[in-house]
Amino acid sequence: MSPKDEVAPTETDQQVLACWNTLITSNYVDDIKHLKGTSDAVFGFTIHQSLITKEGILGLEFHENPTHTLQLGTQVLQEQFDKYGVRMRPVIRVIEFGDEYLRQVDDLRMRDRNYLVCLDVKLNDISHPYGWLKKAVYECKDCGTGVVKMQRRARERESPSTCRPCLLKAVDYMRDDEVPWGLFSPRPNFKMILEECKYEDIQDISMRQITYNKDHHLIHCSAKNEIIGTVSDDLVGDLTAPAYVRVNGIVRVQPIPSRNFSKDTRRVLSIDVLSVEELPISE
Ligand SMILES: [Zn+2]
Repeated sequence: MSPKDEVAPTETDQQVLACWNTLITSNYVDDIKHLKGTSDAVFGFTIHQSLITKEGILGLEFHENPTHTLQLGTQVLQEQFDKYGVRMRPVIRVIEFGDEYLRQVDDLRMRDRNYLVCLDVKLNDISHPYGWLKKAVYECKDCGTGVVKMQRRARERESPSTCRPCLLKAVDYMRDDEVPWGLFSPRPNFKMILEECKYEDIQDISMRQITYNKDHHLIHCSAKNEIIGTVSDDLVGDLTAPAYVRVNGIVRVQPIPSRNFSKDTRRVLSIDVLSVEELPISE
């Protein structure tokens, strides 16, 4: 990528990165050192939510913007893994959320999109593992410039439209500031470089709301309010159904699965699962 495509971290990002660094180096260095020699490709690294809350702006940013904040945390954790010779890709699994995050499946609404929630559920069904194209890498057929396009799950694949170096070359030839770009619609001239694309392993889980008393005795399991969640990376193949669990995750809005045209505007809620904690429920 050209230097122009690299975005410098904002001031907030820098503060968040510093908080992650403090949190990880003051609580988890021994855990990281112990991982040296473990040979999995991906490692789910458990971090307690109370530690995140204590860390000033990190707590606020994690609450407001969990996806991006976790990306920054993963970056810091990867640096620590590298420092101590741990050759795995870390995934942060935040656990033991405060009760204020506990919600009911039936209460979730579109306005909860991108927010953190905890749901006490019965894992009803788990799909076969499958994958999706998370990062697509393209190359201009003319000049060979590489372009990376991060993709979104269950959405149309995005490909680049214009090659910047080729465009600039064309502008140079014209030497005219008044080029009416609206008139031009260059045909995309890219090929995908399959070997460099990144895929992510995922599994869909279906969950039903449960209620239980303070002795963890099951009172009710909803028969109708089912919500689908997606687990990825180290959690794939790790869960069994049926099971009673607390699912901590981020609310997402997905196209309805049965859509038969790509611009269908109907949406359903789902959960991007951050972590799963077993509940000691008796029936
Ligand atoms: Zn080009």
